[in-house]
Amino acid sequence: MIWAAAILLVFVSRGDSEDYCYDEPQCDPYSWGDSFPLCHPLLELRHSPIDLDRRHMSRDPSLGPLHLEGFDQTQTGHWTLENDGHSVVLQVGSGMAVSGGGLPDTYHTVQLHFHWGGPATNGSEHTVDGRRYPMEMHIVNMKSIHPNMSAALDDPTGLAVLGFLVDVVYADNVHFGHISQKLSSVAHKGQRTKVKPFPLLGLLPTRNMSQYYRYHGSLTTPPCSQAVVWTVYQVPVYISWSQLAQFTSQIFSTEEDAEQVTPLHNNFRHVHPASGRAVTASGDAGVLLGTAAPPLGGATALLRLLPTATLGAITFRL
Ligand SMILES: [Zn+2]
Repeated sequence: MIWAAAILLVFVSRGDSEDYCYDEPQCDPYSWGDSFPLCHPLLELRHSPIDLDRRHMSRDPSLGPLHLEGFDQTQTGHWTLENDGHSVVLQVGSGMAVSGGGLPDTYHTVQLHFHWGGPATNGSEHTVDGRRYPMEMHIVNMKSIHPNMSAALDDPTGLAVLGFLVDVVYADNVHFGHISQKLSSVAHKGQRTKVKPFPLLGLLPTRNMSQYYRYHGSLTTPPCSQAVVWTVYQVPVYISWSQLAQFTSQIFSTEEDAEQVTPLHNNFRHVHPASGRAVTASGDAGVLLGTAAPPLGGATALLRLLPTATLGAITFRL
């Protein structure tokens, strides 16, 4: 019995200290479930990300824009940008919160971070009708009643994450420059730098904030807790090619003194089946009309095989 307890302790402590990665078979997203049980695709059914398949969405006219408190203001103090080896994270301190738009409570904004691909590949986590975007930004908000993140992760609606797809154009995004200009200071894992607060609203597609998709899912990184109300916006944020390249070429998953320096590429988790979950479009969001197939994985796969001419009959509505 004592031996069993000792073995269990060793197992648990190993699990806690286990790190994860995106690029090596022994620690990539397909093996996260070995060290983090909630990440196992067969044990849990509410994984994120998913493909936002607009042929299989219902619309909820009651889903209006979220209330983004403090997003239009310049917060006091300073924020911290950090390379944690898996992403670049901007800790934004207190002063901002999200509510409304069908969220069950008020959520305080904690941090935002990014997922990207490589020099020639896209790296958003959510895909839309099978299309992967160059990048995705997540604004993480924690339900106000919880004292800390571990309490929030035990609540099925403990976190509200706002997902913004990022696409590229030729012109720089001046608001995004607040972050991209600081990236060279956090090139290596463990590095952090101060960032002067700026109104977060400038980063967002402000004219299209009533257009989004909603579903219940998980963290997309270990421990993969199924605690997230997802709001993924339809209209992307636009940044320049060179701003994107700063992520794909200047950020490393290794520490500065590492013998072998590894660029941080493709830090996104693969999409998971919706598994019967409702994925809802807000009152103003675009859905695809013209099919009436049920939201099942098999049906989705079949639809993907339909010839282009058949797909041409589908009507797109904004
Ligand atoms: Zn994320």
